[in-house]
Amino acid sequence: MFNPIRIEAHNPSPMTGQGNNTYLLLGSNGEATLIDAGVGEPRHLADLEHHLADARAQLGQVLVTHAHADHASGAPALAVAQPRARFLKFPWPDEDQRYPVRWESLRDEELVLAAGEPLIVLHTPGHSPDHIALWHEASRTVFTGDLVTAGSSVMIEASKGGDLRRYLAALERILTLEPVRLLPAHGPEVSKPTALLRHYLDHRRAREQQVMAALAAGRDTVQAVAEYIYDGLEPALMPAARENVRAHLDKLKAEGTAFERHGRWTP
Ligand SMILES: [Zn+2]
Repeated sequence: MFNPIRIEAHNPSPMTGQGNNTYLLLGSNGEATLIDAGVGEPRHLADLEHHLADARAQLGQVLVTHAHADHASGAPALAVAQPRARFLKFPWPDEDQRYPVRWESLRDEELVLAAGEPLIVLHTPGHSPDHIALWHEASRTVFTGDLVTAGSSVMIEASKGGDLRRYLAALERILTLEPVRLLPAHGPEVSKPTALLRHYLDHRRAREQQVMAALAAGRDTVQAVAEYIYDGLEPALMPAARENVRAHLDKLKAEGTAFERHGRWTP
């Protein structure tokens, strides 16, 4: 039976919301797989140990969805607590080296056995260059990492390897699988994936129209476009708004719809 156990990483913050979800898969053969490493918070390690002991299982591997700290930075602490565990992710060498464990590489469409069940690795970049989702076809479940989080939108940090075009392509790719359940790294399980994925795609299309309208109105810097769209935004949220605008402008530039010279943008 395919029954992922959600284990909280105990890292709530403005950026992570309630904190990260990690997912434990327990096999009848005593092999266990953890999806995402958390941050090494002792309560996370203790909860994991408790579930493993209950099932008389040992942690064989940790599959990390991407190298952002809230998903990967717990790897060294896990390696100490669970010495048999291997650590696997899609490579992003500059970031991976910050978390010193022996990372093994996953490839797009690779099949990984997790607790005896086949998971297909889906390279789904955009939120980060190395992002993967994991597809369990028999239950039509996707472990979505940071591709979606119910109730809010996902950060695409253009200045840190984010790429909106690739992110939208990743959402389309998940949509074509026709999943019935998404298990995200933040927030609750998503039981109507098609509706949520379509909503995300529509939301970004609407945002793109606003960016084009701002350019057409003569707003020609990232800051000016952000102020035009996010009128009255709390100053503390402005850096995130600028990242988002920049991600949209980069997409439009790549598509030949917007042009940039010396930081000035034109339609
Ligand atoms: Zn992330």
